This record gives sequence, C-alpha cells and structure tokens, in this order.
Amino acid sequence: MFAEVSFPISSYQTFSYKVPERLAKKITVGIRVKVPLGRRKVNGIVVGINNTSSFKGKIREIHDLIDDQQVLNDNLWSLIKWLSKYYNSPLGLAAKAVLPSNLSTKYKPKVETLVKALNVESFNDSLGKAQKTIYKHLQSLDDSVSVKTLSNMCSNPKDICNKLAEKGLVSLLDRPILPNLSEFAFKSENKKITLTQAQKVALEKMVSCMDKNKFSPILLHGVTGSGKTEIYIEAARHAININKTVIILLPEISLTPQIAGRFRSAFGDDVALWHSKLSQGARAWTWKQICGGKFKVVIGARSAIFAPLKNVGLIVVDEEQESSYKQESPSPRYHARDVALMRGKLDSASVVLASATPSMESYYNHLNGKYDYIHLKERFGGAKYPKVHVVDMIKEAEETELYGNIFSRLLLEKIQDRLSKKEQIILFHNRRGFAPVLRCEDCGEISMCPHCNIALTYHRIGKYLQCHFCNHTEKEIPSKCPSCQSFNISLSGTGTQKVEDELLNIYPNSRIKRLDADSVRSGINLTKILQEFHENKIDILLGTQMIAKGLDFANATLVGIINGDTGLFLPDFRSSEKVFQLIYQASGRSGRGKIPGEVIVQTYSPDNPVIKSATKLNVEEYYNICLEERKALLYPPYSWIVKLEIRGKKINEVEESINKIKNKMVRPPKGISILGPALCYREKLRDYYRIQLILKSKKELDVNGSKLHKYYKSILSKNIIKEIPSKQRLIIDINPVSLL
Ligand code: ADP
Ligand code: ZN
Ligand code: ZN
Repeated sequence: MFAEVSFPISSYQTFSYKVPERLAKKITVGIRVKVPLGRRKVNGIVVGINNTSSFKGKIREIHDLIDDQQVLNDNLWSLIKWLSKYYNSPLGLAAKAVLPSNLSTKYKPKVETLVKALNVESFNDSLGKAQKTIYKHLQSLDDSVSVKTLSNMCSNPKDICNKLAEKGLVSLLDRPILPNLSEFAFKSENKKITLTQAQKVALEKMVSCMDKNKFSPILLHGVTGSGKTEIYIEAARHAININKTVIILLPEISLTPQIAGRFRSAFGDDVALWHSKLSQGARAWTWKQICGGKFKVVIGARSAIFAPLKNVGLIVVDEEQESSYKQESPSPRYHARDVALMRGKLDSASVVLASATPSMESYYNHLNGKYDYIHLKERFGGAKYPKVHVVDMIKEAEETELYGNIFSRLLLEKIQDRLSKKEQIILFHNRRGFAPVLRCEDCGEISMCPHCNIALTYHRIGKYLQCHFCNHTEKEIPSKCPSCQSFNISLSGTGTQKVEDELLNIYPNSRIKRLDADSVRSGINLTKILQEFHENKIDILLGTQMIAKGLDFANATLVGIINGDTGLFLPDFRSSEKVFQLIYQASGRSGRGKIPGEVIVQTYSPDNPVIKSATKLNVEEYYNICLEERKALLYPPYSWIVKLEIRGKKINEVEESINKIKNKMVRPPKGISILGPALCYREKLRDYYRIQLILKSKKELDVNGSKLHKYYKSILSKNIIKEIPSKQRLIIDINPVSLL
C-alpha cells in the first residue's frame, strides 16, 4: 500500500511513501504523518492511498502517525481541497491552515504531583530530619498539596516525597495542569432575556434552517445595539439542543472577553475560545478537546472557522465587513467569511453574516436575492440613536488660533459634562504610538524605516521609533537631521499615547485607560481593562479600532472620534467604505443603555460625502453612493479581482518579471481587464519592492468568477513560474481586500 503525501511547502508536488504493515489499518486520507524527506523527518498530510505507485525511484516508508485518532472528517477534508483550489494554494499549505503543525491529539498537558499523608499507625523511626519535617507538615494538612509547594521547606521536595512514599507514609498522585480557559472572558452575569418580536423572527429563520439541515446564508443587518448577540446566543442554544455545534467568529481580539462572557453565562464550559493570545498549552489543550467533542461552541478569530467540530449547525460571522477576516499571509490567503459560507454549505449549516454596516459584497448579494435578509432597525429597549455633532477642525483652529490641537472646545465641554455626571466616555483614535512622524523642519526629511518606505512612529513609552509594518525598532532617537544636519527636528502628528498624555494633563483626577496593541500585549490585561470599564471603574477609555465596534457598555454616553478622516485619502477603492464603517460603528458605542448618547466627530473635511453620510448615520444613503461608484469603476462587488504581485530586492528585476507576466496577457477574454503593472502604494516592505497587476472580471459576464480563475491560471503556466527567479516571490491574492 502506498500513500501520497503533501507537505506545507509552496510546491504543488506530492510524494509517494510505503505504508508499513503496522499502520495500514489506521491510515486514511486526511491523516497527518511523519515521514523522511531528504535528511529530515517532516510532517505531511496523506492526500491519497493507492495499491501501486507510479514513482520509479526508491520509495521510503512512513515513520509514524501524528494523531492517534482521525482529526479530519470528510467535510473538513473537502474544505481543505476547496481552499487549495480556490485560493491557489498548495494542498499541504491549505492543510496546515486547518491543522497547524504544532497541534496534535497526542498532546498531553504538563502534570504536577500531589502528595498526601497516609494514616499510618506506627512506623519505625528511621526518617531523616527533612523527611520528618515534611511528613509532620503533611500530617497537619487535611488535603493533598502539590509537591512543588513544599520547596520552601526543603531543597528537594520531590526526592523526599518519593522516599516517604517508598516507606508507605504518603501517597503520590499525578494530575494534569489544565489551562484556565475562562481568564479571557468577562465574569458571568445573569440577565433576564426575553426576545423581542423582531429578534424572534430572526431566530426563527435560523432555527428552521437548522431543523431542516439546510444550508442557508443569512445577512443579519441590525443597527448597533439591536440585540444581535442575544439572537446568536438563542440560536446557539437551539443548535446544542439538537446536538449540533456552533462557531462564532469575531474580527478582533478585543471583542472576545465580552462576547465570550455572555456565551459562558449561557453555556458554561461548553464554550471554547480560540485566538492569538492563547498560550501554547491552552491552544494545544483546547484543540485536543475540540477534536474529542468536548466543546459545543467555539468562539474565536478567523482561524476558528477551521475548528475540528463535528456536525456544525450554526456559523456566525460577527462584524462580517471587517478586513481582519482576510488572511494576508501566509498562503492560503483566505477570507473567513467566504470559508464560513463554504463550510456552512458542506455541513448544511445556517450561516449568519451579521453587522450594522455590512460589507458592500454582502449588501449587494442581499440586493440580488442571494441571502436571506433580516433587518433590525431599532435598538433594543427603545434606546435612542446617539446625536452626532460634527466639528470642523479647520474652523476650530481659526477661531481658537490654536493649530494642531487634539481636542475641540465642544469635545472638552462634553467630556467635562460626562465626568461630572459620572457617565463614561469612549475616545477613538486610530493611530497607536505617540507621534506618527519625526520630521526635519528645515528640509522636510522624515525618519523612515530602512526596510519599508514608511515613516517610523515615535513611542513615548519606552522612547523608541518603530515601523508598524515590520516592527523594526530604533532605540536611538536622532538629535539632528541625517540629511541636512539641522537640529530643528520635531515630532508631528498624533498617536494614542499623545492623546493619553493630553487627557491626563487636562483631567488629572480622572481614571483614564488606553487600549491599543501596545497596551494589551497580553490578553489578560485586555480583559481586565474592559471588565473595569464595564464595572464603571474607568471614566475614559481611549483606544484604536480595538474599541470601535462590538462592545456594549450601558453607561458610555459619549463617543469622541479624534480624527474622523484617518484613512480617508488612502488610494484604495475600499478606503471610504472603511472610514464610513468605522465612524458608524464607533458612534454605535454611545448611548446603548437607558441614557441617550452623543457622538463628536472631529474632521478636517466636513463636506466630504463619506463623512457626511457617516455622521448622519445613514447606511442606505452611503451604500447607494458607494455602489454607484463601484459600478462605474467596475470594482467589487461588480467585479472579481485577482492581484498578482511580485516581490524582490532589486526593483529592475521585479519589473522584468512582472512584465513577462503582463506580456502574456495579450488579448484577455471579454469582460476581463488588466490594471498595471504598477508599484504598490506601499512600494517597499521588509526590504522587498512590490509591483502588482490587477485583473478585474465583470461579474455580469462572469457570474461565479470561474472565467477569471481559468484565465489567470492559464497565464501562470509552469513555464512562466519557472522564469521568475527563486529570490523573488509571486503572490497571488484572490479577492484581495486591499490594493495598498
Ligand atoms: P448588538 O449585538 O446588536 O450590538 P447586543 O446584543 O449587544 O446588540 O444588545 C444590546 C444590549 O441590549 C445588550 O446589553 C443586550 O444584553 C441587551 N438586550 C438585547 N436584547 C435583549 C432582550 N431581548 N432582553 C434583554 N436585554 C436585551
Ligand atoms: Zn533636514
Ligand atoms: Zn519596516
């Protein structure tokens, strides 16, 4: 018997191996194996089993199986094959996305040894001094203790306990140390929930699909605070009742604690969390438990869509518009929303795409009748929509003669008002660090990352400059301009650390916390800050996009958006959509409880149509404008896009390669157009120059995108791939979310 094995490397080749007799019974397609490759032993995945092999050379033998039980059911295996094909990623890499190589069902958590004194009538008195002390101590305790805790009484507690055990005086017991899986979740709360009529209608739709075992995609478009999360919880309850499982995807780690807390209040230990801040041990343990069917609900970031749950009945993609659902690197460059739809199809599940600001794609699919559509137009409990004030910061500067001020007078006044009323404030600013640029006032030179053509951000805490793309860090802050030697250099622009400094200056007696990637390196800290804000122990919560969406704090009645324009002028067809969604979502954090809320949006472009619709909180108006634009320029959702990008250290060589590809695209089929080649907006990242070609295919002529797929695959024949020097990289991005 022979097995075809694929490896997580970027080649499409598979290799043949002999299956030894002892493994013949256990081996199946989709199982992971350890095999010799060259001089190493590597992990691979079995992609086929045959009685013969066409390979003529020497065939080696499989060493071992990685898992002691099958971890892939047929549907997950089909999902891997789909990922590989759709995203043009070698099977081994697609398999690795689903089955990370550091996870195995053979994982055993570390153990600790417990010791307990036994009741012994008499013993011959031959104990050493330390043995006697420890034994006496253990006798005085009612319960067993970890051997480790005895280390303050003697230097080698383990030896001593072993000796005592040999003499029959104590018993020893090994116990696995299990990770604390609840530390990333808010404390449990018991809230009485009776769904409203609108919520019931939404729930009914999900329930009926689950009962019928029918794949059904639903777009749940509910304004912020309309009670979407309560609907998922009830839908999950139904899934569990009929013996199905549930995946809840969240776009941002900062949403985990609150939502996980709400789910744990409902389902206790049936809930697993899956995100980047899990320790290696917690990760391995959680995964093994999921494989063993111990969890009913998995809540997590995009890779949670691959959770090895059986019989998935409900998948929720919360804030489905978020670009963090797209994996940029490594391959497969998948979009978790699309994977969710595919997995839902395979598992005949109900797939709920939920948002107050759906993506243009989903909105368009709804307009075309592809999704069931549920619109919740009102906030729960009659909570009012917040009142939005727009502050023109140019006028503000003219009137106050203060240029570059962070806070407008109106914002300060409203903050003061909330502080005096003991209501809470959320301030949103989408730039971390202290100041985004260090600039020479004389020649205009800006401190740039030597690896990326991007300005370094100054971090006041720790005093360093850092590139937010490659993390290159400079501890020495230049005192003079490297280009003209002038000492006249200054920090300009505003990051969250600067906003925090100013706040502390103005409101020294307030409790202010900053939440961004720098302040919450550990998940525990994140949970702590959010829980404190929830319990009213913080007055002002300041943060980046981490706090802009999904969070629910009843006493937060003021949201301030420090600079509503951030990102507005980036040369990407999605940038205005993102700005709209961010302002709308951030506003949605205000006034969710009984007290009505307000929002202050500070902007330098108050007449910009995006800012205008966003501050009017008018989704339909903006979506219509946006769709018109997309249609005129033939961007998604009116077209499919594939991005081909070459990266390399020498720009002329990169140009040469991309031109070779371009030259093959002489007469593309009708409906397909080609943009470029052009330098990417971020033209150099991590020492690599980037040039891209954008292929667009008009949806009208290419309903499911297969024409475009066929076309780009025909262009990227083996011959052309061979011509790209191995020092360069060709990146193929299907449905990219950003063209920057
Ligand atoms: P969304 O997810 O749509 O932003 P949430 O589910 O967070 O909205 O609901 C907003 C607030 O209203 C939450 O505090 C939630 O617990 C509460 N809520 C929603 N529906 C109900 C209900 N039927 N009964 C009681 N409270 C509810
Ligand atoms: Zn200079
Ligand atoms: Zn860099």
